[in-house]
Amino acid sequence: MTYPDLLSGQTALVTGGSRGIGKAVALALGETGAEVIVNYSNSPGKAEEVVQTIKAHGGSAYALRANIAEERDVDELVKAILERSGRLDVLVNNAGITRDGLLMRMKTEDWQAVINLNLTGVFLCTRAVSRTMLKQKRGRIINITSVVGLIGNAGQTNYASAKAGVIGLTKSTAKEFASRGITVNAVAPGFISTDMTKELKAEEILTAIPLGSFGTPEQVAGTVRFLAADPAGSYITGQVIQVDGGMVMG
Ligand code: NAP
Repeated sequence: MTYPDLLSGQTALVTGGSRGIGKAVALALGETGAEVIVNYSNSPGKAEEVVQTIKAHGGSAYALRANIAEERDVDELVKAILERSGRLDVLVNNAGITRDGLLMRMKTEDWQAVINLNLTGVFLCTRAVSRTMLKQKRGRIINITSVVGLIGNAGQTNYASAKAGVIGLTKSTAKEFASRGITVNAVAPGFISTDMTKELKAEEILTAIPLGSFGTPEQVAGTVRFLAADPAGSYITGQVIQVDGGMVMG
């Protein structure tokens, strides 16, 4: 088997695949032979560009809109994929937002919006694909958490709580699904250059990163591809893999 064909014949859903880390993950999985469903919420044009790039490299992809924080949208998304592709092998729970603010002044709606997408969205997508993966006796679920879910961050109680919740969800689901050939892992990026981090003051943050730079979406995508591939990821489950330039050790 050649490397580009590691995922051939498989179908992969990437939530929030239109920009940033999700886009890089979609391109990496497409390059590796999977048919990729590029989910988006507000950026149809960007999602279509990702699809066209995958196709231009000889891969297969299509874009589908769904608000991942909404149960009905998620169920309809998975139904549409199964009708069109007939299978679903890889789920990458990537869609996420921030609504930062100090706890004392945090609006309940900002707490709720982040929990609804970043944590409940992961639950909704995992539940929606579970029947199909359990029947197939094969599946890879990769949840994008954050090092902030491990160490906390002032101004991000909502985001850190959601990301810590994703780690608990990852480990519990890994235990529930292990006997059925489904692995569930989390990838915890540190600071990655995307729209989400473009407002941050780089100089202060860089002093805390031993490798001395922000990461790229492609560096995160490489780890996701590793976890999705056979045999690379097949004996790893319930783990949190940090991609953070050494920011958080031990
Ligand atoms: P980004 O550049 O802001 O992209 C966010 C993606 O999520 C977009 O594709 C967006 O799609 C999608 N999205 C937003 N709301 C959505 C919704 N309701 N339903 C479906 N999709 C939705 O963010 P990023 O930096 O790539 O982050 C991706 C993931 O990595 C997130 O889970 C984030 O928490 C995590 N992460 C990022 C960093 C970092 O430093 N960047 C670090 C740790 C973890 P549309 O534009 O179509 O709405």
